[in-house]
Amino acid sequence: MHIVVTNDDGVYAPGLLALAKEMMKLGKVSIVAPDHNWSASGHVKTMHRPLRVKEIELDDGTAARACDGAPSDCVALAALGVLPEKIDFVVSGINPNANLGHDVTYSGTVTAAMEGAIWGIPSVAVSVDAPEYHRGPLDYSVAAEMGRRVVEMLAANPIPHNVLLNINVPYLPLDQLKGFAITRQGLRIYRDELVKREDPRGRPYYWIGGEAPTGVKEDGTDIGELASGYVSVTPIQLDLTAHLMVDQLKKWDWGK
Ligand code: MN
Repeated sequence: MHIVVTNDDGVYAPGLLALAKEMMKLGKVSIVAPDHNWSASGHVKTMHRPLRVKEIELDDGTAARACDGAPSDCVALAALGVLPEKIDFVVSGINPNANLGHDVTYSGTVTAAMEGAIWGIPSVAVSVDAPEYHRGPLDYSVAAEMGRRVVEMLAANPIPHNVLLNINVPYLPLDQLKGFAITRQGLRIYRDELVKREDPRGRPYYWIGGEAPTGVKEDGTDIGELASGYVSVTPIQLDLTAHLMVDQLKKWDWGK
C-alpha cells in the first residue's frame, strides 16, 4: 500500500509528521507537502509559474518532499509522476483546526484531498478540533489513529471516484471519544469583520478579521456530532450542482 501524505500547514508542521508516522503502519508513505503554510488557500492549480520540489528531512530524519506550490499542487505533482509508484491513498493533515460545513471550500487540507479524488485516488482529509486558544504543542496522536482507521476502512470498502472523506476529530483522549459518526455538512457561521487601516504612505489596506467561526450544532451534521464528542466522517463530492434547482431553473422563461 502506497500512501501520499500532504497538508496545508507546511511540510514541517507537527500534524503532518504524526499522520505520516501513523500511516507507516499501513504501508509505504511518501510525503509531498508545501514548503510554507497555505491554510485557507482553497483549491489551487498553479499554472503560471514553475513548481519546484526539494528533497528534505523532517525533524526526526523522515524523508519528505517540499514543494513551493499549494497542497493541491503537491497532490497533482505526485499523481502526475513526481512519485513514480502508483498511489493508493492520499491523506491530508492533520490540520490543527476543524474543517466543517462551508470551510471545505476554503480549506487547503480538504482541497488537497479533493485533488486526490479528481485523480481517482481514495482521499481523506484529517483535522483535529483543537481549542481555539491552545498554547504549546498539540497532541495529534488520537487524530492520527482515527485517520489510520478511516484509511483501513477505505482499504476494505471502495468509494466512488470524485468522493473524498472529510474527518474531524475532537481534541479528546481516546477513551473519551464516543465513536465515529457519519455526517453531512453543517452550517458554519462566519464572523468575519473588515479591518481597514492605513499604510505608512497613507493608503488604505484591508484585513479580513473578526472572531473564529462558530456553527449550528445540528444532529447529523459535522458541526453537531463533533461537538458531541464523535469523530465526524463526512463524504464530500466534487459535484457541487444544486440538483434540486435544475428542474426549477428549467421552468424559467429563458427566451430563445
Ligand atoms: Mn491549515
